[in-house]
Amino acid sequence: MNHSSTAEGAALAVSEKSLASGITGRTDPRAVLAARVEQLYGQMWLGILTTFAIGAIATFELWELRLRELVLFWWGLVLLITAASAGLLYAYRSRRDKEADPEQWLRWLGIAALAAGANWGFAGAVFFPSHTDEQQVFLAFLLTGMTAAGIPVYAASWPIFALYAAGALAPFTYVLATFGNRLFTEIALLVPMFYAINVAIAYRLTQVFHSGYRLRHAYGRLTRDYSVLNQRLERQLVELDEARRQVEASGRKLQLFAERAPIAVLELDANGAITEVNHAAELLFGYAGGELIGRHFSFLVRPEHHDEFKARWKRIAESHASEAGVIRNTRRDGIDLLCEWTVTPLVNREGTIIAVVAQGRDITAQREAERIKKEFTSTLSHELRTPLTSIIGSLQLVNTGIVGDVPPDVSELTVVAERNSQRLLDLINDLLDIEKMESGKLTMAPEVLAIDEVVREAMVLNKAFGERFKVNFEMQSGLPGSEVTADRKRLLQVMTNLLSNAAKFSPEGGAVEIALRENGSNVRVAVQDRGPGIPESFRSRIFGRFAQADSTATRQKGGTGLGLAICKRLVELMHGKIGFEARAGGGTTFWFELPRS
Ligand code: ADP
Repeated sequence: MNHSSTAEGAALAVSEKSLASGITGRTDPRAVLAARVEQLYGQMWLGILTTFAIGAIATFELWELRLRELVLFWWGLVLLITAASAGLLYAYRSRRDKEADPEQWLRWLGIAALAAGANWGFAGAVFFPSHTDEQQVFLAFLLTGMTAAGIPVYAASWPIFALYAAGALAPFTYVLATFGNRLFTEIALLVPMFYAINVAIAYRLTQVFHSGYRLRHAYGRLTRDYSVLNQRLERQLVELDEARRQVEASGRKLQLFAERAPIAVLELDANGAITEVNHAAELLFGYAGGELIGRHFSFLVRPEHHDEFKARWKRIAESHASEAGVIRNTRRDGIDLLCEWTVTPLVNREGTIIAVVAQGRDITAQREAERIKKEFTSTLSHELRTPLTSIIGSLQLVNTGIVGDVPPDVSELTVVAERNSQRLLDLINDLLDIEKMESGKLTMAPEVLAIDEVVREAMVLNKAFGERFKVNFEMQSGLPGSEVTADRKRLLQVMTNLLSNAAKFSPEGGAVEIALRENGSNVRVAVQDRGPGIPESFRSRIFGRFAQADSTATRQKGGTGLGLAICKRLVELMHGKIGFEARAGGGTTFWFELPRS
């Protein structure tokens, strides 16, 4: 509001200034000249009409008394001058460029005025020396009358009037002075004075015209300024109204959000007293809104956390920044709640906190779930994996015959037991890996490795697994000497997964080909099989968790649907990428790339 009122004030001040400068300051001299020319031509027809009418009356009066040829000649002059002036007026009115050359038009008008004045001067000089007094009085009256009539007609430019009057009075004065009569000589002396006074009056009128013009000009500017100002004000008003409506709408929306939000929203004053609560806050603490409003927020905080709460409140009050954190609250029934709060101060322009909005969420259940999950993971890892590893170890001892021969039917069973225990252990390991990944605890131990060697090692390690499916691993093209920076154990894990998948899905007696090649700044490892390929519909989900194309086949072949998801994450953690493509002639090529070191 302050801001806009200063803007209005400034606009008004500008208008006042432009008025003052319009009246007292300098105006564009060409614009003044153009206006003056317009004014002069505007009343020119009056001069033409008067010249014609008075000329006709004078001709009529002189007709009987004077030499007719001379009177006719003079009348011809009157007609010529009025016609030429009318022509000039017509030319001015129909000119194309209204702005162009006002000086030229003024000059033409000066010539026309001089001609008209000289015409009256001619009449005075030729017809005045007469025998009858009446005629002389008539002529003198005519001349003075016509001179005086020139004042208003040429008021906008005193030099033109001066020209006109000089044309009319000079010959007449000369005739009076040389007439030889004392009275006329005295009158001849008076006429220049009379002329000077008339020119002075014309000069004053020109000044008046000028200031009138300036006033009109200033007024025009002021009107323009005001209309601009008005438009601006109107626009601002419309904008303000729109803004108000928007603020109201978003206020309503916000209120609705707060009321319906599943999280507790409390509005506090700058001291921490509750001023407003939403329904979720009532539910969370077990109090009705009315019971909460007016009380200090700290009564909802467990006493042993009061100091911490005070410290946080102080920080918010000082920094004006919002703060997030977990606090132990108490419900009406005395039960403890672990709540996650986001506290945001609302600060006005002057930097004062006008309110504080606290948004809270009960995370007691979530923390409990996290605890249970942790417990489960540790159960998996210790209570299941450890005994399982020792079961597998024992079964391996039995199956390899180290502890002595066992009857073939028992051996059959112990082989199945070992295989299934291994599957169980794989599943547990995968689950633990996934859990680690999700909690961000999966770390890498990177070292510079000869990729060719690691791949060959993985092939040896998985040879026995391949043989189970009657599948051979063959190195198609190695890459000796190429090095990558990676975690050895994790790289073997990725390879094991790709090799075991290829073996599982290859037809019996088939070969899985491994190819290494450089691809720009990366090393690409490709594992190619002749299996059934990846169905189109499954391709987008293949790297997801628990993703399996066909659960019956998988059940036969073993697997959890976690392997590729783990591979993808591991390869990414080693700054590489993983993918697959259909192999020409059937089968799939799974590949991963790691940056060369
Ligand atoms: P699993 O432990 O089940 O093998 P993976 O994540 O490694 O889990 O594989 C997910 C699914 O992707 C498999 O169940 C299978 O349907 C498909 N798959 C993986 N590798 C191949 C392959 N080489 N050929 C055909 N299908 C494959």
